[in-house]
Amino acid sequence: MASNKFVSNLVTADPGLPRPNPTQSYWQHIPHALADVQSSTFPNDRDFAIIGSGITGLAVAKTLLERHPTATVTVLEARTLCSGATGRNGGQMAANAGEEYMHLAETHGPETAGKIVDFTFRNLEKMHELIEAYDAVGVSEVQRLQKLRVFLTPKKFEDFKASIARLEEDHPSKKGLYVILDADAVGQEYGIHGTAGGALLSAGTVWPYRLITKVFAALLEKYPDRLTIETHTPVESVEHKSTFASPITTDLPYTLHTSRGPLWARTVVHCTNGYSGHLLPKLRGLVHPFKGTMTVQDPKDSVPNQGTSVSWGFHYTPSYDPETKRHGSGLYYLGQSAKTGYFYFGGENARIEESVSADDTFVAEHSVTHLQSVLPQFFGKTDQSNWGLVGSWSGIMGFSSDGLPIVGRLPSTLTGRKGDNEWIAAAFNGYGMANCLMSGEALALMMLGEDVSQWLPIAYGLSWKRLQGSLTISEAVSALGSKL
Ligand SMILES: Cc1cc2nc3c(=O)[nH]c(=O)nc-3n(C[C@H](O)[C@H](O)[C@H](O)COP(=O)(O)OP(=O)(O)OC[C@H]3O[C@@H](n4cnc5c(N)ncnc54)[C@H](O)[C@@H]3O)c2cc1C
Repeated sequence: MASNKFVSNLVTADPGLPRPNPTQSYWQHIPHALADVQSSTFPNDRDFAIIGSGITGLAVAKTLLERHPTATVTVLEARTLCSGATGRNGGQMAANAGEEYMHLAETHGPETAGKIVDFTFRNLEKMHELIEAYDAVGVSEVQRLQKLRVFLTPKKFEDFKASIARLEEDHPSKKGLYVILDADAVGQEYGIHGTAGGALLSAGTVWPYRLITKVFAALLEKYPDRLTIETHTPVESVEHKSTFASPITTDLPYTLHTSRGPLWARTVVHCTNGYSGHLLPKLRGLVHPFKGTMTVQDPKDSVPNQGTSVSWGFHYTPSYDPETKRHGSGLYYLGQSAKTGYFYFGGENARIEESVSADDTFVAEHSVTHLQSVLPQFFGKTDQSNWGLVGSWSGIMGFSSDGLPIVGRLPSTLTGRKGDNEWIAAAFNGYGMANCLMSGEALALMMLGEDVSQWLPIAYGLSWKRLQGSLTISEAVSALGSKL
């Protein structure tokens, strides 16, 4: 196993800027018309500069534009529009707060743990509301369905059942969110044999790239004088006026140095997820990149198309193979396109230095062949020769040391700069579709002075207690040890 020092060096490394030549994500194989959008003249003074054009940057921009009558907003993106994790993920709309409940209740108490469950399920409903409001049901190929969580090892199943039992005991109104199935039911009703058991929960699947780019396009059309999106514009550094004299006005205290020149802003919003540590070096280790592997596989006619009714998560005890030095992270996730029957299948089987990385310019061949070999087996197929690999790619997630998102105003101890108008929403720990939309909305409302404490879980905030306790480099090292 890797030494703590080695892991610590990995999590604290500079993630760098998003690489200009990432692997080709199947979701983006037909780029949106606005993929390379830029203003003809680079805007250099804005009220809000949002760095990152994923779902979180979108949620912040949308809320600011809708809730503030005059605010000017620029979204800065290093690569093409929505080319980060949001354009490279598994398309699963599912909450994980139920299986995490026991740990959350023990760490934060039942009230906060219950709020996290509510937040994630409500966030998923808001995704559907967004899809309907922007007439994106067809284009995003959204499905409302049941997610079948399958537990491949007895310990995982026992832990899961205990967590759900505690959730239902603490919050009787949440009974029924999860329906537990025994191994026979999983085998007979869903054709997956040899498991320890399973559970069903309401969930969905979606084509996130198409959804987010569509909403960005609608916002640009609605707010042509207040919104600009600047793709291919990496933000190389951020400065506060205490170290740099802004020639425009002292009301715009921040200078964002970009590849296309400086931009002066009143407020800086970091929606850079796995790359957050590049512009915020003091956040390195508290948030670190985690590289995920995705495949699209064509089962041809060997299994029925269940894309309108079910998606799957396969949980197992994290594994380590001393010979290959590869870790199995404990989860495979799977959705099926109702249109094509293609499986969208992801999960990690990689060396630690491959996983704790912000380099999405390649995808390890052994990780892809692993995903090719295990998927047919879940459906009892030993002959894989008929299955085709349609695509494979990697993408960068943001993980926090305590497994929770980070949403709030950044203290100067984390920015390393004077000024108190830098904000962040990041570190969705692989569950962005259940967290990003409302985290971005909450962040924007906080910036506008609204109180969101009724619905934003307090544990997502950057409290002094969190920064002293669970959000630390040593916690990141031990959390990785338990995940990998
Ligand atoms: C392989 C994989 C599978 C996943 N599967 C799922 C899933 O099935 N379900 C689920 O809920 N979640 C999943 N996730 C997680 C989910 O995709 C993320 O949590 C979510 O998309 C994060 O959105 P975001 O907007 O915060 O970050 P991102 O979408 O990563 O956006 C951040 C953007 O910031 C840009 N950026 C960074 N630094 C700079 C800079 N200095 N200057 C300019 N631009 C910059 C990046 O290029 C990027 O576009 C998966 C992620 C991956 C990688």
